[in-house]
Amino acid sequence: MKIAIIGFGAAAIGFIERVKKSEVEIHIFEKSKDIYSSSISGIRADGKLFVSKEMGGDLDIDLELQKKLVDFWIEKTGNGDCETGSSFSNMEYYKLFYQKGFQPIHSDFYHLGTDQLKEVLFNIYEEYRQLPNIHFHFENPVSHVDLAGSKVKINDEGAFDKVYVAVGRSGHKLIKAIIKAYPQIVLDSTKVDIGVRFELPNHIVEDLNREMYEFKVKYKSKTGYMVRTFCNNPSGYVVTENYGDFITVNGHSKIKEKSKNTNFAILTTVQLTEPFNDPIGYGSNIAELSNMLGGKRVMLQTYSHFKDSKRTKNLYRVNPTLNENNFILGDINLAYPRRIIESIIDFIENLDTVVPGVANSDNLVYAPEIKFYSNTLSNDAFENLKFIGDCSGFTRSIIYATAHGYVMGEEVLGG
Ligand SMILES: Cc1cc2nc3c(=O)[nH]c(=O)nc-3n(C[C@H](O)[C@H](O)[C@H](O)COP(=O)(O)OP(=O)(O)OC[C@H]3O[C@@H](n4cnc5c(N)ncnc54)[C@H](O)[C@@H]3O)c2cc1C
Repeated sequence: MKIAIIGFGAAAIGFIERVKKSEVEIHIFEKSKDIYSSSISGIRADGKLFVSKEMGGDLDIDLELQKKLVDFWIEKTGNGDCETGSSFSNMEYYKLFYQKGFQPIHSDFYHLGTDQLKEVLFNIYEEYRQLPNIHFHFENPVSHVDLAGSKVKINDEGAFDKVYVAVGRSGHKLIKAIIKAYPQIVLDSTKVDIGVRFELPNHIVEDLNREMYEFKVKYKSKTGYMVRTFCNNPSGYVVTENYGDFITVNGHSKIKEKSKNTNFAILTTVQLTEPFNDPIGYGSNIAELSNMLGGKRVMLQTYSHFKDSKRTKNLYRVNPTLNENNFILGDINLAYPRRIIESIIDFIENLDTVVPGVANSDNLVYAPEIKFYSNTLSNDAFENLKFIGDCSGFTRSIIYATAHGYVMGEEVLGG
């Protein structure tokens, strides 16, 4: 059997890992120049691996398989270096948050760090490229996929028995083209997460960081919107992410170099109903509006000004870890809908009752932080065209994407 995988990220790696020892001939088409390219894969920052049934994707992935895949990634560091933690295994913390209306999320967690990830990806590639049945085609962006009888063609070239599309979120243009040709594959498209990146001194959250490193909670705010924490980075750094049309904010942390601040995202899930069907357009417009006000930079505001809708002109005790060329002091209220702002404020004020100091007036709020959900795509529509990982809409994390690929690989082997 001759298979094409489009994209070399976590999902492709899970798939290859499962089928690498079989007779299946695998061709990987990757748009990036080579394995060192900064654009390759979502696995560049910052390598937090989770074992959890409650986050990371909407698939039922066995905890045992999740842990096996975590071990796979850790092994590829070559030295086994990683930080670990467990979110809410301590019942005292669980009860404390629960009492205040939060829904604590259970998860075991392993952190590889941005600095180690390059090495990990390289080690995996080095192993695969030496296998006789695996063929890499770098600098090969796929722009269209066509079903041709029992075969599938990509870019009008070659004919494959099966094609696995594994282009992550950065492959949204290809997904759009496939949806245009085969609209029946779309199952759902209504959700987007819009929020802010919050930064505060380590000492305010040090007990929480020590206890669980990544604390994950959800909260039904007074507006009815669900709000959640995402991607906590103790001693971490705030960074920007360039989507081409707009710039958003993100965070990461390193295994060796440490800052004095912790940052995490506070995200509000906006789920709209018919006739709305363009969550990506909605999120992009909000991001573009923020960028427009910030002169193509992200906006930074102190928490009290964010709450009172006043433009921030000076900061006080908390020094931003984001490079000063990448932000402008401003008022996020000019770009964000009121219901989202109110949901975030309600979340922070309530969190302050559990972790005093979270709502300090000089803590930092950055925007826009937006997490797009891909459309969920059907893997039942066609026998020989499948979608794995984040582009399928069913995963949102390294481990779930790897597992999705792994499970689909198992199907190929008839498992
Ligand atoms: C900044 C950042 C930090 C993150 N941190 C974490 C974290 O700490 N923990 C975690 O669990 N998750 C994290 N994630 C999410 C995680 O990276 C993704 O969930 C995961 O990588 C998804 O795997 P994937 O294989 O679906 O896609 P990806 O890993 O993104 O791989 C897709 C590949 O397809 C290629 N591609 C795209 N379009 C085409 C095309 N048309 N033709 C050919 N190739 C194409 C891309 O170049 C890329 O190499 C983070 C994401 C980002 C952006």
